[in-house]
Amino acid sequence: MKVSIVENILKANDRIAEQNRNFFKSKGVLTINVMSGPGTGKTSLIEKTINDMSDNINIAVIEGDIQTTYDADRIAKTGAQVVQINTGGACHLDANMISQSLNQIDLDCVDLLIIENVGNLVCPAEFKLGEDFNIALLSITEGDDKPFKYPLIFNVSHLLLINKIDLLPYIDCDIKKIKDGALRINSDLEVLEISCKTGEGLDKWYDWLLKKLENFKKTKK
Ligand code: MG
Ligand code: ZN
Repeated sequence: MKVSIVENILKANDRIAEQNRNFFKSKGVLTINVMSGPGTGKTSLIEKTINDMSDNINIAVIEGDIQTTYDADRIAKTGAQVVQINTGGACHLDANMISQSLNQIDLDCVDLLIIENVGNLVCPAEFKLGEDFNIALLSITEGDDKPFKYPLIFNVSHLLLINKIDLLPYIDCDIKKIKDGALRINSDLEVLEISCKTGEGLDKWYDWLLKKLENFKKTKK
């Protein structure tokens, strides 16, 4: 009985996610869903991305958190449009929350919408939001066993960003083990190593984004 209720919730969610996706497409907006555990650097990644890319592309952000507007306040300082969703206890965003936040954001001139999911390695991966791409962010401080313990997020993601590589000299973390584990779950997964602190590897992340934006604009015509 419990299983069928969960299935129905996910089916209803997928329908709204599809509506969101069509809406984003009609606005010409590429949408990415950034998922990770708490404290891995999602907001830092988004801040850095806006600061480094805002000359070329217009980015808007939806921030998901259980409580507070801390992250939205940080993003607002970059000058980008930002909406904070407080889930009031729920440990993930769902398509309906995204749908209801869209009247607070003007997507007409936006190229890229970044959704920062609630910090949680588990259920954000179960709920489609209407995104074009899922990004999993992992920090080397979380340990190299995460792909083995939390396979779903690696399975549904298109790109894995391994963050905080500037800390490698101080931490016992085998990046090859992370990569091998993640690729065993999802052989199509792209993997990049980055440091939001030093900026190392971010150029490859920006190239990835620009390529996706280019392809997206081509399919629109
Ligand atoms: Mg955050
Ligand atoms: Zn949840």
